[in-house]
Amino acid sequence: MTLAKIAADYPDTQLFIGGCWHPGTGRIEVIGPASGDVIGYCAAAAASDLDDALAAAQSGFCIWAATPAHDRAVVLRRAADILESRAQLIGGHISIEQGKPIGEAVAEVQYSAEVLRWNAGEAERTYGRVIPSRQSGERLMVLPEPIGPVLALTPWNFPIYQPVAKIAPALAAGCSVIVKPAEETPAGAAALTKALNDAGLPPGTLNMVFGNPDEISSYLISSPVIRKVSFTGSVAVGRTIGARAGQALKKATLELGGHAPVIVCPDADPELTARLSAEHKFRNAGQVCVSASRFIVHRSILDRFSDAFVEAANLLAIGPLINARRMAAVENLVCEAVNCGAKLAAGGTKGTAPGYYFPPTVLSNVPPEARIMQEEPFGPVAAICAYDRLEEALQIANSLSFGLAAYAFTDSSDAAERLINGLDAGIVLINSFGAVYPESPFGGIKDSGFGSENGAEGIQGYLHPKYAALTHS
Ligand code: NAD
Repeated sequence: MTLAKIAADYPDTQLFIGGCWHPGTGRIEVIGPASGDVIGYCAAAAASDLDDALAAAQSGFCIWAATPAHDRAVVLRRAADILESRAQLIGGHISIEQGKPIGEAVAEVQYSAEVLRWNAGEAERTYGRVIPSRQSGERLMVLPEPIGPVLALTPWNFPIYQPVAKIAPALAAGCSVIVKPAEETPAGAAALTKALNDAGLPPGTLNMVFGNPDEISSYLISSPVIRKVSFTGSVAVGRTIGARAGQALKKATLELGGHAPVIVCPDADPELTARLSAEHKFRNAGQVCVSASRFIVHRSILDRFSDAFVEAANLLAIGPLINARRMAAVENLVCEAVNCGAKLAAGGTKGTAPGYYFPPTVLSNVPPEARIMQEEPFGPVAAICAYDRLEEALQIANSLSFGLAAYAFTDSSDAAERLINGLDAGIVLINSFGAVYPESPFGGIKDSGFGSENGAEGIQGYLHPKYAALTHS
């Protein structure tokens, strides 16, 4: 199917409550970032729809928590197969609504299927344990139980992966879910919801709403039905969500922003590292929370690295940014850095094409006081600076309040050990950008949030370890 045909078929998205699709009580325009035009609509929920979703999540929880883990796993695996069989069409819709190239969008759907499968296995591995008792005739047990109905709040940069990263472990654990995906990219989340429904998920187990994000999160977090909140987005909104969850004494997982450093040691191959860096940096137009954004390069290879990075960046064609707001934010950061003395080595100005396209941009010799060295660009901008000693590189890397991902390239095992130990981040990758899988835990420290998605840790956020003691009379 051609992209034009997929675009023509871009679906309007309804609410999904209690196993049925609902038109909601209003509608929100969905803007295609490649054109800036309206490509469709998603339904908006009123308070009465949210009440219905809460009631559905409560009754869905009763059914799903009592469903054997094996049967829950069967549904998740069936949904994974369905997603894979629909990957081209769903990928096309994601590409249209989010702006990423279709190949990246299809890969996102396939990766989401893998996340469902990993969590299906995790459902079957929610082992409890027996604690040796001090008394004869007494048995002490730890029994993992689903925490209750979950509120999942997800952003627009990965329209299907972000929802599945929360929904899959929650369902695996036996929780029901109300998901509020980003209004910018509703079709990806709706395709996941449909796949799970088609796979046989009981009504009420998964519910999906859209509307005013602030009003919805405030209303739902304060409801006694919701027992856990999981949010992915900016640090600023994360603070609000975390404060609301704290006020209501709800467990929370917060996956927030990052400003990942890349330390390139003198013994790394500058050209190869630069090519890998450019491919990674500009994926999804840089709108990735683990996107490398500060390249801290040993002075002895700085010129070779920078030249190769610029050459690779100039060869890349990337998709548009999500909206005009992001484009203005990125442009501002670039202008400010140049005013501070950074050299604009590639890109830097938007073209005349319609939509929100901003070219791969490379800033070299960026001074530490430039705002881009402190603020997450969340766009296609790479900032390069030099270092002389490894301690200095670590100091620059660790100087921000973010602590999500950090990368380093070196041929020395000693340096690799020092970097793994010294980098202050939840995720540290040496000599690669790609080692992130459904089976590896993903989460930040400091202002990048708390809690893990994926890995054996992911499902733990949705379980409560009930302690039970049985004394035989
Ligand atoms: P934002 O924080 O305003 O929005 C991010 C998401 O949060 C959106 O989907 C939005 O609908 C939702 N949101 C906003 N206010 C909310 C509220 N009060 N309650 C519940 N949900 C709310 O950010 P933005 O301007 O859309 O995107 C840019 C920034 O967002 C970036 O700087 C980046 O840090 C962050 N972001 C992070 C990720 C990630 O993967 N960690 C993804 C997207 C955006």
